[in-house]
Amino acid sequence: MELVELPIPEPGDRQILVKVLACGVCHTELDEIEGRLRPKLPIILGHEIVGRVEKLGPRVTKFKPGDRVGIAWINSACGSCRFCREGNENLCPEFKATGCDADGGYAEYTVVTEDFAYLIPDRFTDTEAAPLLCAGVIGYRALRLTGLRDGQVLGLYGFGASAHIVIQIVKHKYPNTRVFVFTRPGQKHHQELAKRLGADWVGATGDTPPEKLDCAIDTTPVWTPVVEALRVLQKGGRLVINAIRKEEHDKEVLLRLDYATHIWQEKEVKSVANVTRSDAEEFLPLAAEIPIRPEVQEFKLEEANQALVLLKQGKIKGAGVLRISE
Ligand SMILES: [Zn+2]
Ligand SMILES: [Zn+2]
Repeated sequence: MELVELPIPEPGDRQILVKVLACGVCHTELDEIEGRLRPKLPIILGHEIVGRVEKLGPRVTKFKPGDRVGIAWINSACGSCRFCREGNENLCPEFKATGCDADGGYAEYTVVTEDFAYLIPDRFTDTEAAPLLCAGVIGYRALRLTGLRDGQVLGLYGFGASAHIVIQIVKHKYPNTRVFVFTRPGQKHHQELAKRLGADWVGATGDTPPEKLDCAIDTTPVWTPVVEALRVLQKGGRLVINAIRKEEHDKEVLLRLDYATHIWQEKEVKSVANVTRSDAEEFLPLAAEIPIRPEVQEFKLEEANQALVLLKQGKIKGAGVLRISE
């Protein structure tokens, strides 16, 4: 990424101009930079945006100047296709993503259509709120897709920005559920954070947990955790993969899939794609009620490249956030 001067964008008819206060750093940015996703180019990355409404387009009714709002990965959807009509706007063929198809929040200003911005609960600081908008919202969606019931065992593969929020939702909503956390071997600070947030068991990917998993969420960018999670999944269990793309380098591990060990007994695999507005609208008040305490490591806008390198190395504790203005 290069730092450049650009004109402040003008809000269209139903758009708001947002002065960006903070923007979260997400693994999806690495997928875009490394070519697994194809953004429009040039692009301003960033889809976990917290900012103040600075100016309204002529037909805006939902916000007033000064409101503190969040913008998430969903930047727009058509509103009329079969998927949109059924409440699955995340699957809309016209789905546009913030910081990929439309300019995002690694910037001082951005614009968005008012329907795709949400009021941020007062309880959160700007940098705390940023990771709620992707890591939090998509974590919430992934958890919903597992179908977890209270008292069941949940496995979390990877313990970064999203999983450290998911565990806080689980401990609040499902008090009798045991949560087992799997990290890369030797990821000490992730393991300590997991214990502090109430994990009932912590190990490395590949370890066999004390009980089988009724469901699991994989938030890693690689394949090994998928195979390992299927191995220790309970009969009839479900693995939800929360990743937009997987890296290729450990793909041969899939040849180890053995039908009887990993698949049979009605085990299921489901992916999570994008988010809907209602995911954000349901999750933000819940996050305030719990309240979720995102663990945040702050960077300046000028340090965005370094922040992404640390993220790639698995060295960010909790979630990385760019602090853009006060
Ligand atoms: Zn993201
Ligand atoms: Zn649609």
